[in-house]
Amino acid sequence: MLLVRSFVVLLLRCITVNMNLCFSTITSSFNTLPLDGHFNFEEVHHAARDFGNRFQSLPSAVLHPKSVSDIATTIRLVWLMGPRSELTVAARGHGHSLHGQSQAHRGVVINMESLRNTKMHVYTGRSPYVDVSGGELWINVLHESLKYGLAPKSWTDYLHLTVGGTLSNAGISGQAFRHGPQISNVHELEVVTGKGEVINCSEKQSSDLFHSVLGGLGQFGIITRARISLEPAPVMVKWIRVLYADFATFVKDQEQLISAENAFDYIEGFVIMNRTSLLNNWRSSFNPQDPVQANEFKSDGKTLFCLELAKYFNPNELDAVNQEIRNALSQLRYLPSTLFLSEVPYIEFLDRVHVSEIKLRSKGLWEVPHPWLNLLFPKSKIYDFAEEVFGNILMDTSNGPILIYPVNKFKWDNRSSVVIPEEDVFYLVAFLSSAVPTSTGTDGLQHILTQNKRILEYCETAKLGVKQYLPHYATQAEWRAHFGPRWEVFVQRKSTYDPLAILAPGQRIFQKAT
Ligand code: FAD
Repeated sequence: MLLVRSFVVLLLRCITVNMNLCFSTITSSFNTLPLDGHFNFEEVHHAARDFGNRFQSLPSAVLHPKSVSDIATTIRLVWLMGPRSELTVAARGHGHSLHGQSQAHRGVVINMESLRNTKMHVYTGRSPYVDVSGGELWINVLHESLKYGLAPKSWTDYLHLTVGGTLSNAGISGQAFRHGPQISNVHELEVVTGKGEVINCSEKQSSDLFHSVLGGLGQFGIITRARISLEPAPVMVKWIRVLYADFATFVKDQEQLISAENAFDYIEGFVIMNRTSLLNNWRSSFNPQDPVQANEFKSDGKTLFCLELAKYFNPNELDAVNQEIRNALSQLRYLPSTLFLSEVPYIEFLDRVHVSEIKLRSKGLWEVPHPWLNLLFPKSKIYDFAEEVFGNILMDTSNGPILIYPVNKFKWDNRSSVVIPEEDVFYLVAFLSSAVPTSTGTDGLQHILTQNKRILEYCETAKLGVKQYLPHYATQAEWRAHFGPRWEVFVQRKSTYDPLAILAPGQRIFQKAT
């Protein structure tokens, strides 16, 4: 601490002499901090990129921490410099943001994956859990907990994301209707605040910080450790897809399914427009060994809605599970002869998007612009939305999948920072487009961005009460509107935990005062 203080005195003296000189002095002087890890000032370009592939802000330095103390020391230094330095700090998980959210223009990016050396610890007693580093990938959390026959309860569709990254948003997938998002399945966090303090927090201890950080878009602290709730892991999964031509029937069946306690373990859905090859989409690791009656089904270019379900089971339960599935399916009103069924190991089901990633990477189609749009819709407005968007604005789904599925609001904790619609049931609608970099046609970036803009304008004009998920806005006024009545609390939390607005500048919510 003493070393950091004397260092800051030196820097501040320097700042008053010459701003430009000092900027390089500040960053290169990070090297003299007592760290277990190290700074890199040359190889910083990868930290200026993300999955969205549209926003690029070059940092001055990348910290590769080997301990929590490395992160705390670095942030404390920036905090002690005060508003006279323009330095900001961004945690970078796996860099899978869409709009530069884990970037820091001329600031410090903390490569959270370097912290992964901390061993995961699985507790197998009553209410099992796993303790993991904030930079750990969910796929590794899965592998480790499976060694004990356990697994986290709530997932994202893609597992090559970090724990700290998804907990800063929410972490939503087909299990959320039952278990809530990933942020509803965390017992405890270790956090480094914007003042460089290391704080353990939970429901019972520093609970305001705990709730602030969950869904907090990285604004209040850096998650260095998380305790995640586990359940017994199944061995196998029955993976089912059925089709609907009628949107109202599709969503009614989805809503009925999420209100039933035991029917399925995973419920999602997606839209198919103007496609004849029904199984061929971005998430096509689905490969029905037993396309019950439907392998020859042709959509003839119509818009169809695909309900995707999964039922977990162990081999000794097969007969009972088959019976349960038959019963549950008999109550649904999908198109006769459109039942696709597959049976896969649990790990293969959860890691399904990675199969598509490998295919797309091999064709050079992974590192392209991703102008994704994720929206949360109140249940009562989903029909209006579908009519306008699938009937008017969009012509096809060839630029990427459109997911649509409901979740139960009571599984979300309203003390967390994430903003969701008012009603008891709301839908995640995700337009997961990929753009062809050089195209000026309907598969080009400009065309997709224009479509996204039309969708957002329609939602705004029709006052649908929609909230963006993985939100992105250009102005603070828009952020204020996004948070609505919760804006004041968000600002209050910021002034408590990161008063100089050092953290996560790439979200563009607050600007560091200089
Ligand atoms: P980053 O993108 O690196 O960081 C995200 C934000 O969190 C940044 O502001 C960053 O500064 C901050 N941050 C990162 N680490 C920490 C930390 N340890 N402490 C505090 N702040 C931190 N999301 C879903 O909910 N459901 C899905 O099904 C889903 N599927 C996806 C599929 C793909 C192919 C991709 C690319 C993304 C998907 N996502 C999904 C979105 C994903 O949750 C976000 O991209 C999220 O940002 C996680 O990515 P990351 O770990 O790379 O974090």
